[in-house]
Amino acid sequence: VCASPAQVVVVGSGFAGFYAARRLAQILPRDVAEVTMVSATDNLTYSPLLPEVAAGRLDPRRIAVPLHGSLRCSRILQGRVEDIDFENRSVRVAGGEQMSLSYDRLVLATGSVTRELPTPGLSKTGLGLKTLAEGQFVHDHVLQQMQLADTTTDPALRRGRLTFVVVGAGYAGTETAAQLQRMTQKLLASFPRLSAEDLRWVLVDLNTMVLPELGPRLGRYALRLLRRRGMDIRLGTTVTAMRPGEVKLSDGTVLPSHTVLWTVGVTPPPLVAELGLPERRGRLVVDEYLKLRDDVWAAGDSAATTDPYGREGRDYPPTAQHAQRQGLVIARNVAASLGVGTPKPYRHRDLGLVADLGGTKAVAKPLGVPLTGLIAKVVTKGYHLVAIPHRANRLRVAADWLINLVSRPMPTQLGHVQPAAAQLRSEYSKP
Ligand SMILES: Cc1cc2nc3c(=O)[nH]c(=O)nc-3n(C[C@H](O)[C@H](O)[C@H](O)COP(=O)(O)OP(=O)(O)OC[C@H]3O[C@@H](n4cnc5c(N)ncnc54)[C@H](O)[C@@H]3O)c2cc1C
Repeated sequence: VCASPAQVVVVGSGFAGFYAARRLAQILPRDVAEVTMVSATDNLTYSPLLPEVAAGRLDPRRIAVPLHGSLRCSRILQGRVEDIDFENRSVRVAGGEQMSLSYDRLVLATGSVTRELPTPGLSKTGLGLKTLAEGQFVHDHVLQQMQLADTTTDPALRRGRLTFVVVGAGYAGTETAAQLQRMTQKLLASFPRLSAEDLRWVLVDLNTMVLPELGPRLGRYALRLLRRRGMDIRLGTTVTAMRPGEVKLSDGTVLPSHTVLWTVGVTPPPLVAELGLPERRGRLVVDEYLKLRDDVWAAGDSAATTDPYGREGRDYPPTAQHAQRQGLVIARNVAASLGVGTPKPYRHRDLGLVADLGGTKAVAKPLGVPLTGLIAKVVTKGYHLVAIPHRANRLRVAADWLINLVSRPMPTQLGHVQPAAAQLRSEYSKP
């Protein structure tokens, strides 16, 4: 009589979970293990292109890589893991029907949610950009502000509608501010009562540079470019309070604005803290094999492991680049624990980042080589096309980009996303 196959459960279908599950299903024979993917979403959201969704240059579905059709797992369950019982080796799943799922091997790849600070008004007024719903909502919201500004005859109200504040000048905030600013500038032609002088984009960060991830040279290039485009960039500055129609900055300025896009970093979802396991900066501490404890591994934004190539004692940064590769290493190590292959430690030297600044401009640092302008743009687009892990998505993204070359984005709000779904406090971070 054959022993029944081991149950391998992967939680989270982001970069780490998706690549782990896909590789596990490839390398583990069915009689050795059954792989189950449990995720709150039915797709891998290719978040590096979320700024393009917000700017209306990509349809949201283009960057949603479907789990069904891409993964050959035994089972794909859409639901949220609410609790893990390590002693009895089971996870409690909510959403659809409540169920308890037993595991022999568990992979935790729950990613991250937007980091909130105790800034007054933030949880009600701030907009995040971590999920597809948020990306679509931000797009609709900005268009709605243009529409409302076009309707009013009061110059002060118009000014308030057309003042957009982005907090955080890392890659997510800078790319999004740059691309949305270009979108609003281009769409002025469709709102003849609005003028370029009415539009005001403000990017603030406590840091003293933009795009710190790409180093000072590229940061300076991006700063000059965006200031030339008319963006009001205030470094060493943050938002101290906000409410609809008013945003206070730490330099004393009070801006009339209905839009605060909050991109000040990420933190793992509450489930991670509730596990009561050792953490570093909120992330679960794993060893170099990405092992968390007996028969449990963790990777991606939710997990912390020391980066031997980084600054002394630093963990690998929370990027897709690492999450994806950690997923592959976890697959190998889980398989090895089931007698298939040998384990391997996670080691990866950062390959650099890319940031699309809209128009023909971008900055990129592939393998440490700093690139700007059109060449960086080509590298950025090419990189994403190769990195999207599904041919159907790749084709559709390429098609949208080709169309964008000959046609400007259409000023239509879909209105499908309810404000509650796009509020900063996302579904996964609700207590
Ligand atoms: C706007 C933006 C731009 C970015 N640009 C880049 C870039 O250019 N390059 C780069 O390398 N990185 C970039 N990143 C960072 C990158 O997206 C993340 O580092 C990466 O997504 C982390 O992957 P992950 O698998 O750890 O988690 P995630 O991709 O966050 O996925 C986590 C998954 O877990 C699921 N989940 C969470 N909690 C539960 C639960 N309790 N139960 C079930 N499922 C759960 C979620 O639904 C999701 O499917 C960007 C991020 C953003 C937001």
